[in-house]
Amino acid sequence: MSKKIIHTDIIVVGAGIAGIASAYYLKKKRAKSRFFILEALDSFGGTWYTHKYPGVRSDSDLFTFGYSFKSWNDAPIATASEILKYIGETIKENNIQNNIKYNHKVLKADWSNSEKKWTLMVEHSTKKQILYFSCNFLQMCQGYYRQNQGYIPNWKNIENFDGKFIHTEEWPNKLNYSNKKIIVIGSGATAATTIPVLAKKAKHVTMLQRTPTFYRTSTIGTEEIANTLRNITDDSEWIHKIVREQILINQEIFIKRCVEEPEKVRLELLEEIRNVLGEQFDIEKHFSPSYRPWQQRIALTPDAELFKSIANQDVSVVTDEIESFNKNGILLKSGKELSADIIIAATGFNMSILGDIEFSIDKKFINLSDTITYRGMMFTSIPNLIWTFGYFRQAWTLRAEMIANFMIKLINHMDFIDAKKITVKLRKKDQNMKILPWIREEEFNPGYLSRALEKMPKSGSNIEWVHNQNYWYEKDIIPNIDLNSEEFIYE
Ligand SMILES: Cc1cc2nc3c(=O)[nH]c(=O)nc-3n(C[C@H](O)[C@H](O)[C@H](O)COP(=O)(O)OP(=O)(O)OC[C@H]3O[C@@H](n4cnc5c(N)ncnc54)[C@H](O)[C@@H]3O)c2cc1C
Repeated sequence: MSKKIIHTDIIVVGAGIAGIASAYYLKKKRAKSRFFILEALDSFGGTWYTHKYPGVRSDSDLFTFGYSFKSWNDAPIATASEILKYIGETIKENNIQNNIKYNHKVLKADWSNSEKKWTLMVEHSTKKQILYFSCNFLQMCQGYYRQNQGYIPNWKNIENFDGKFIHTEEWPNKLNYSNKKIIVIGSGATAATTIPVLAKKAKHVTMLQRTPTFYRTSTIGTEEIANTLRNITDDSEWIHKIVREQILINQEIFIKRCVEEPEKVRLELLEEIRNVLGEQFDIEKHFSPSYRPWQQRIALTPDAELFKSIANQDVSVVTDEIESFNKNGILLKSGKELSADIIIAATGFNMSILGDIEFSIDKKFINLSDTITYRGMMFTSIPNLIWTFGYFRQAWTLRAEMIANFMIKLINHMDFIDAKKITVKLRKKDQNMKILPWIREEEFNPGYLSRALEKMPKSGSNIEWVHNQNYWYEKDIIPNIDLNSEEFIYE
């Protein structure tokens, strides 16, 4: 008996903030296309649905992390539940709910050159059934890390610790941390978010870091601009638009300065900390990273809340390395010992490349690291597939919207020229270009990326084959890509 295959025009994988942005544009600009969103989880929101650690919130302001088409009317930094509410409203207001199939985890995707379509093998996680879908075009909005699974370095003797050991990505439903001694391992965005919240109830929190992180203590004037405009008008769409543009300009200036005058920016960032912790605190040791500002994402601690909890001694900082775990806590390489009731690893993610889906063409397995990325959206030799991967330094969603619009333009173009297949291919002038890692480590090098780099697609030295991380460059380039250029091969 042949297997039942449900066919549709476009399948979007993932109902996170990016997948819902795509659905919005498909409804608005491509009403004649039928589409599904296949989502592995039982609800929408991705990141904002799965993260449960205390205090979980955005790092970006919602004027840029929120959509261009739906205004944000609250404080710039939002909690996970506020972001979920915002995504939920977007789904409802645009009638997207019937397009989403929850509990549908895509396991395999095979492109058929004769049929010119993708066939997806999908696991229905509650019915424990394997289902099959096919589509003419596939958009991957799968995010970049495995949900509900944290990265734990190879520490010695974790099992010897008598207290509770938790990863922030796998937060238990009920955890009583009132009056407990807690060690949080890590000092990135997650640690900076959760530590001040934990400190309100805990007996004491120790932030244990191997190396320091840069922090900002505000969203570069966002609150002030929004409040000033709110005094003039209650037109929330207009306020959203203006604040969004102003923030983008402020961020661009800041990011440029991080490259052009990194030492000056470093001193400014450290000065913000010194203002709270005073001259006596060893700021150089604990808060001055070895890399330049923005080489890794700068963590936000709004209103300097992390430093305020250090100043009032609810939190202490230890910069050292873990030798091993023991019954009471952690033995450090310096010989010092830290004891705790609860140890929390805020040590990041495991990367999920293209949703951990096994891709093949005519049943022949594709190794992604053998492909070259076209502007971080498509891959050589993989047809009819668009990959959504947002910005690291600016709001992820800015790029997600841009890519959704590019996909629609591409599909419209294919209709116009009556093509069923699009692949990107190196041009004559690309034949001798340098083949490089997906992203230059000296430009951006968080641990989860470095660990996965060899499995990622490659980039090239010609600009079309670079996964660019510059919104100000891409906002003019991507909408104006000439779809008749030599790198696009249509059939
Ligand atoms: C705690 C936290 C805070 C963050 N804060 C910010 C911030 O302030 N600003 C910013 O720009 N970025 C931030 N990020 C990065 C953040 O992940 C992205 O900005 C954004 O939410 C990603 O949206 P997404 O829809 O692309 O992916 P996700 O939110 O990861 O959603 C992807 C969805 O795809 C589904 N999926 C994956 N694989 C499959 C499959 N094989 N089959 C079916 N479904 C699949 C997943 O279940 C998930 O629901 C943060 C990340 C974390 C963890």
